Amino acid sequence: MQNYRPGTDCLHAGYVPESGEPRNIPIIQSTTFRYGSSAAMGALFDLEAQGYFYTRLQNPTSDRVAAKICALEGGSAAMLTSSGQAANFFALFNICSAGDHVVSSSTIYGGTFNLFAVTMKRMGIDFTFVDPGCSKEELDAAFRPNTKAVFGETIANPALIVLDIEKFAQAAHSHGVPLIVDNTFPTPINCRPFDFGADIVTHSTTKYMDGHANCVGGAIVDSGKFDWTKYPDKFPGLCTPDDSYHGVTYTERFGLAGAFITKATVQLMRDFGASPAPMNAYFLNVGLETLHLRMPQHCANAQAIARYLQDHPKVAWVSYPGLEGDKNYALAQKYMPKGTCGVVAFGLKGGRAAAETFMAGLKLASIATHVADAKTCVLHPASSTHRQMSDQELEAAGVGADLIRLSVGIEDAADIQADLEGALAAV
Ligand code: PLP
Repeated sequence: MQNYRPGTDCLHAGYVPESGEPRNIPIIQSTTFRYGSSAAMGALFDLEAQGYFYTRLQNPTSDRVAAKICALEGGSAAMLTSSGQAANFFALFNICSAGDHVVSSSTIYGGTFNLFAVTMKRMGIDFTFVDPGCSKEELDAAFRPNTKAVFGETIANPALIVLDIEKFAQAAHSHGVPLIVDNTFPTPINCRPFDFGADIVTHSTTKYMDGHANCVGGAIVDSGKFDWTKYPDKFPGLCTPDDSYHGVTYTERFGLAGAFITKATVQLMRDFGASPAPMNAYFLNVGLETLHLRMPQHCANAQAIARYLQDHPKVAWVSYPGLEGDKNYALAQKYMPKGTCGVVAFGLKGGRAAAETFMAGLKLASIATHVADAKTCVLHPASSTHRQMSDQELEAAGVGADLIRLSVGIEDAADIQADLEGALAAV
């Protein structure tokens, strides 16, 4: 397909119908695919022919949507998963096994932190969590001989810390491992981590990509740039024959462009089955078709709301990487000059009690655990998702008792502001 700009790729990448074919990506609602002979199907199983045999591994609807996300990120290959959690797990488990180690930014989504620090640790994979603001020397010191990857979020949820992608990429590459970046919050409309040295990108497509709270989903995109074959001892799964899959050596058969995603598909999808429903992939595509229009609106609204909150006498602090003076502003300008995301965090001078009163006074904003949706949503973690934690525990987790997370939607900004105004008046 011709090289188009992101706004065009949002509509067209991944699927070009032939004459008389459906204009929309068709929903191939079928678990299975019919073949004329066992030999024809055998060629698929041997990865000698391309095609579909079972939707747990691959489905044409999902593949076309993955190809669109691949084009938007500027990658070489991509796959959809059933959730963002599955995407991050697969991205790491594709190259890590028991006895291996990963360096991760400490400011990452709580669910990802739990996956790494508890569940993957139980699988024998160790993590070292580093402050994303650490020096180059501190970052280097976190590596071990068995380190297999570095992980971070472009904009951390909910801390809104911007990752210094180049610093993390340089450290990863100097230790012969890839940098994996969760690019959920900015989306490729605002940041393409591959342009700054990241090797693999993941997404919770549940957020802005879907954008309408329709479907939980995830994606993994490979840049195709990391040369696994330079480190065959580190990455035997990609560089030596896979006995569980007809003895195929992924880097030999599929090259650097296809090895990582093919292995994750035929091995991890086969065994874990975290595949998206074709209908969900279809909904995701409908969301992607307007991503380039929604992201600038989210950012413009969030910028206006962050400024309004900053000037409000009842507000103690505001965190938004697009705000001049914010501690993440310089990095945000470097990596996301067009805008960051729609999520703003703030605290009220009256602390926890004021936050609870404020939440009760909102009418337009929905109280929800969700973020990055077309409709404004808001969460006071201390009185909802994190209510079992003491104030001291909340502070240690970086989610103070006063913190309110506001995911600014694409409604008219004046109405969002009026809603906040009404709720603040009651505080
Ligand atoms: N990554 C980030 C940055 C997230 O914010 C989330 C969920 O909030 C996830 C991954 C997990 O995604 P999902 O909820 O789609 O499994």
